[in-house]
Amino acid sequence: MTKLTYERPVIQKLNTGTMNKFGSRTEYTPVTHIEGVSVKSLMADYGSPLFVISEPQIRRNYQSAVRAFKTRYPKVQFAWSYKTNYLNAVCNVFHQEGAWAEVVSIFEYQKAIKNGVPGNKIIFNGPDKSSDDLRTAINNHSLIHIDHFDELYMLIEIAQELKTKATIAIRVNMDTGIYPIWDRFGFNYENGQAWNAINKIMSAPELELHGLHCHIGTFMLSAGAYATAAWKLCDLAWNVKLKWNHMIQYLDLGGGFASANTLKGSYLQGSDIIPSTEDYADAIATTILNFGFKPDELPMLFLETGRSLIDDAGYLLGSVLATKRLSDGRRATIMDFGVNLLFTAFWYNHKISPAQEFSHHTEDMVLYGPLCMNIDCIRESINLPLLSKGDQVVVHRVGAYNMTQWMQFIQMRPNVVMVDAKQKVHLIRTKESIDTMLRYELVPEHLEQFKL
Ligand SMILES: *Cc1c(COP(=O)(O)O)cnc(C)c1O
Repeated sequence: MTKLTYERPVIQKLNTGTMNKFGSRTEYTPVTHIEGVSVKSLMADYGSPLFVISEPQIRRNYQSAVRAFKTRYPKVQFAWSYKTNYLNAVCNVFHQEGAWAEVVSIFEYQKAIKNGVPGNKIIFNGPDKSSDDLRTAINNHSLIHIDHFDELYMLIEIAQELKTKATIAIRVNMDTGIYPIWDRFGFNYENGQAWNAINKIMSAPELELHGLHCHIGTFMLSAGAYATAAWKLCDLAWNVKLKWNHMIQYLDLGGGFASANTLKGSYLQGSDIIPSTEDYADAIATTILNFGFKPDELPMLFLETGRSLIDDAGYLLGSVLATKRLSDGRRATIMDFGVNLLFTAFWYNHKISPAQEFSHHTEDMVLYGPLCMNIDCIRESINLPLLSKGDQVVVHRVGAYNMTQWMQFIQMRPNVVMVDAKQKVHLIRTKESIDTMLRYELVPEHLEQFKL
């Protein structure tokens, strides 16, 4: 039997108020394995902190989302949102499953091309497409989703010059009952801007209007908003048919489905309140099917789901650097990962589990990261067992946006590994080193020498 660790008894102020009906404790069991691979061995082999991605979980998420939509609507195509997680290994799991690519910059576009995605299976979104970017996209027959009139006019000019037709859609923004409205992207539905853009496009022989697109927000807690969005896109498509005798081939409802994370300030756990993929699918499919299109006119349905397909496939493993008491007596635990790696800590109260057995004592504590910077707080208050130096933790549902929005500030980025279905561990991004950083720096000759 191993010797039990001694824990000094403490007198502790009882804090009431922030509990929800499940109590305030976040975790009752240690998480020692991910997809059957030992958390301790992962950190021993690849260091701490460490991002771990479960390939089987990505596949399960993707397949169940496809099932939810395909059982409700006959023509469905997902496109993987690169900015949500553009590690090539991750993208390629989605591509193997059948997802196209959805990109919002030429950098992401190039990544998709290098991954082997055919040009005509790339959806090119976003407000920043240069004339060179548009030339590339036209030549590759990609689906160009126009964001504003300046882009529309530039596209007409380039298509005329190249004497090629451009395959396009417009992004539409609209009131779906969720505020604030994301009206900075695309053309507004209610004020007639979208209809205006459509008429300009339909009068331009160089442009082929294949689709209508919207991306109404992210972490949408209302499936009904998608019914409204789908109805407004159908209405535009219907009017294109009436006025121009032209069938819109696809409606793209964008991304935005919530993952099971808990938003800061939420009373209930995220997993208890978010709509299911089936709820979103029902809202969208029912609206389009009931709209009035004839069977052979039904548009293809595109989805650019990001967050909800990858969040729970990603984990961040880390270790306790130190513990201390703050001046007001609160316990503080300093981790080796901070907001530099866990950007989503600004919005979520992540589920955090100890990676080893612990005693029955728990305490409210502040979790800090390793940065010498006051903002580096992962959690203002969390009830956890008394972690001590060297203990390890598992942070759950970190697959979306952390591995693209992470910042190289004070610390460098750690290894990322992927666990496959056979419990084999693959390094998919190596940790950065001093050489990574120095590669990009140049020191003018007169600054090369100094004497102290
Ligand atoms: C970010 C983004 C997505 C993915 O959004 P999620 O909220 O992660 O599902 C899809 N489409 C567009 C245009 C985006 O900008």
